[in-house]
Amino acid sequence: MKYIGAHISASGGVENAPLNAQAIGATGFALFTKNQRQWVSAPLTAASIALFKERCAALGFVPDSILPHDSYLINLGHPEDEGLGRSRAAFLDEMQRCEQLGLNRLNFHPGSHLNQISESECLRRIAVSINLALSKTHGVCAVLENTAGQGSNMGYRFEQLAEIIDQVEDKTRVGVCIDTCHAFAAGYDLKGSFDAVIDEFDRVVGLKYLKGMHLNDAKKPVGSHVDRHESLGAGEIGFDCFDRIAADPRFDGIPLILETPVPDLWPAEIARLKQLA
Ligand SMILES: [Zn+2]
Ligand SMILES: [Zn+2]
Repeated sequence: MKYIGAHISASGGVENAPLNAQAIGATGFALFTKNQRQWVSAPLTAASIALFKERCAALGFVPDSILPHDSYLINLGHPEDEGLGRSRAAFLDEMQRCEQLGLNRLNFHPGSHLNQISESECLRRIAVSINLALSKTHGVCAVLENTAGQGSNMGYRFEQLAEIIDQVEDKTRVGVCIDTCHAFAAGYDLKGSFDAVIDEFDRVVGLKYLKGMHLNDAKKPVGSHVDRHESLGAGEIGFDCFDRIAADPRFDGIPLILETPVPDLWPAEIARLKQLA
């Protein structure tokens, strides 16, 4: 079973997300469970949680098809105590929201060293942050997203993701989301060497850790380190990579999420991938 969807709006409440996903023909979706540009949001209400669960069940969205994304403000590898503490508290809140909604994974960008600490110290802090959140929650997997390697963002090499996972105590609750645009921008040639890139991921991290994908074409060439998403087939990666993912059973059973820039194209992008699945 392929779960294919997009990062859709949850404005007006998380309970609207499954309706918005169904409206574009999706079989999975991503959402923010709070305002992604604020540190603090009101708690989810019991009514909102109940309606979210009811609609997901009615529309056939199982937890494995849903990939919540955390706030962009959070930096779990922050070099300073205050920023790190604030990020860890906000991340715990995000994990607890997922738990309340009956979801089983939370997607996040690993963290940034801000040129103040070494890469390995930043990766260590990220792992400690994950361990802290996992110790206070149940059933939600922390899903690291690979990055394009812009600025001081960590997680642009598969080795960096593996270094974090190595230091996570509960390996059953840590995973990875591969963003195709980010991987391509970081130098992994998903156009010219698709199989080699997936094999390298399997060797360095392990496909068993793959808990989701972001399917985005890239505006900039391979190795640009610039994170600019493009609609499928309209960028430097091209349709072939996405058609292969849709047809490959190794990518069954996890959310495959579009973060492409033209929402009007999502129904057609989803229909194409569903047809190949
Ligand atoms: Zn992404
Ligand atoms: Zn991106």
